[in-house]
Amino acid sequence: MPYRAPINEFSFIFDKIVGLGDVTSTPLFEDASHDVVTAILAEAAKLSDEKLAPVNRSGDEHHTVLENGVMRAAPGYGEAYQAIAEGGWVGIAARPESGGMGLPMTVASAVNDMMGAACLSLQLVPLLSMGQIEALEHHASDAIKELYLPKLTSGEWTGTMNLSEPQAGSDVGALATKAEPNGDGTFSITGQKIWISWGDADFAENICHLVLARLPDAPKGTKGISLFMVPKFLPDADGNPGERNDLRVVSIEGKMGLHGSPTCVMEYSGAKGWLVGPEGGGMAAMFTMMNNARLGVGVQGVSSAEGAYQHALAYAMERKQGRTPVEGPGTIIDHADVRRMLAESKCDIFAARCIALACAAAIDMGNATGDAAWKARAAFLTPIAKAFGTETGMRVSETGVQIFGGMGFVEETGAAQYYRDVRVTAIYEGTNGIQAMDLVARKLMDGGEAAYALLDEIEADAEKTRATLPELAEPVWQATETLREATEWLVSQSDLQDRFAGAVPYLMGFARVLGGYYHLKAALAEGGEGTRSRLAKFYIDRLLPEHTGLLTHARQGAVDLYAITHDDLVA
Ligand SMILES: Cc1cc2nc3c(=O)[nH]c(=O)nc-3n(C[C@H](O)[C@H](O)[C@H](O)COP(=O)(O)OP(=O)(O)OC[C@H]3O[C@@H](n4cnc5c(N)ncnc54)[C@H](O)[C@@H]3O)c2cc1C
Repeated sequence: MPYRAPINEFSFIFDKIVGLGDVTSTPLFEDASHDVVTAILAEAAKLSDEKLAPVNRSGDEHHTVLENGVMRAAPGYGEAYQAIAEGGWVGIAARPESGGMGLPMTVASAVNDMMGAACLSLQLVPLLSMGQIEALEHHASDAIKELYLPKLTSGEWTGTMNLSEPQAGSDVGALATKAEPNGDGTFSITGQKIWISWGDADFAENICHLVLARLPDAPKGTKGISLFMVPKFLPDADGNPGERNDLRVVSIEGKMGLHGSPTCVMEYSGAKGWLVGPEGGGMAAMFTMMNNARLGVGVQGVSSAEGAYQHALAYAMERKQGRTPVEGPGTIIDHADVRRMLAESKCDIFAARCIALACAAAIDMGNATGDAAWKARAAFLTPIAKAFGTETGMRVSETGVQIFGGMGFVEETGAAQYYRDVRVTAIYEGTNGIQAMDLVARKLMDGGEAAYALLDEIEADAEKTRATLPELAEPVWQATETLREATEWLVSQSDLQDRFAGAVPYLMGFARVLGGYYHLKAALAEGGEGTRSRLAKFYIDRLLPEHTGLLTHARQGAVDLYAITHDDLVA
């Protein structure tokens, strides 16, 4: 079955779960009327269904290749990218003065969800550009903004992020790329970057690399890092691509998936660059791009889950095997275990999508009101959206392979592609382990204030719903109390290792409870009867209980973990 963008799902979540109406009531987003948002969703769905989904297999089968120093994208990618650019989708959330549409991140995230489900490897191009646009809007000089932003928002030029080096992956502070001042306000960038997604593309007029590098005598670690704009072609006086810069793609990695997206080793040999943000302020500036991309990658996880789910559902509705226990066409959808796999997937996609869109709505409210509480909410939800979204992508696509049985293991069905493509989302943009550490350390540095504010809200809503939907509201309220206790325990641990030892289970436990809350809201929105209520009951009865195991794990501390020695692990 070809991918069909779930527009009604987005509309429902906007209206009933994350309160897009509050976002669009602010002066910043007042142009995003209901009619505008509806039209945007319909157009993005058309783009995804008709232009992007048809090239998804092409990227997997043909890969992007480097031929005589020229990057050749998979057949069909150039045309599909032009459709993204011409539709103005790269600039969907960019400010109007940058040439963008100025729409809320909530709406942009739904669009990314559709594009990612249709073709993940190509959607990475606009995703990276979107993050770069936001970083430039916040940190670049007016001259750089004037030169680059119109080209990036129009999609004529594309953006990349260059952090990783062989010795500097999660530990970005270990990077060694050098930036020497040229004495004319520009810098010479020298060094090697690895794993640079879309480090080149034959369908873009110019590639704008945001590169982290060190100035001479810069202090060690992250404090000594600065950020530079290093274009493939130096813009001439009219802003058109001019002289070739001293940078090149040395090779592209052979990967287990996401073959349509070239992952490049980049060599900078005294390439000309311009400082973005202050000297030594590179990490802060890059964090704007990284936070944008973290939510974006979480959404990639959700989108892959959606694509894999639709694909597996279609198969389950046509594959006949054995006698099914209920009347019907006798297809495998009626076997209990297949029904379980589909229901779990459906429920988790809804939970992960709500978490991502709630995070996006908090970002929008923070931008629109400047309110510190909204900003704290957005910061708190970002690692959860990234990690739970991508874990959901992996779990659902793996389940999709299982639903296909032997045909899931055979490449021709395409089920395996979802599984292979999404795997990296849990790794790039900060591994999920690093996200979880961020959650229990930096995001609890406020003494748990942002976490408790969210828990208070869930409990208050669950209280209100107790009378009407007790069998759903009560477990959600109880789970929130367990989560509050686990949060209090973590906040009280002064040794960060005790928090880190349980960081991933805490993040996953938190996501489970949030999922229960959003399912409860969904059931309430239809008066406790109907599809959403049945799915809510399934989630709350069967998936929400996982939080107890996860949060017990989260509270064990590091002592017994480190009591396990190297020898124990090799024994
Ligand atoms: C397909 C692909 C595309 C990519 N695109 C880009 C890109 O466009 N730009 C870019 O700059 N980079 C990119 N990357 C790099 C990516 O961001 C890194 O792979 C990632 O940050 C992890 O770094 P690493 O691979 O060096 O793993 P390591 O840092 O070596 O980590 C290995 C393991 O150790 C864990 N670990 C490491 N440090 C800690 C710690 N302090 N505490 C606990 N656990 C820890 C990690 O979670 C992981 O499980 C890409 C990678 C891939 C595979």
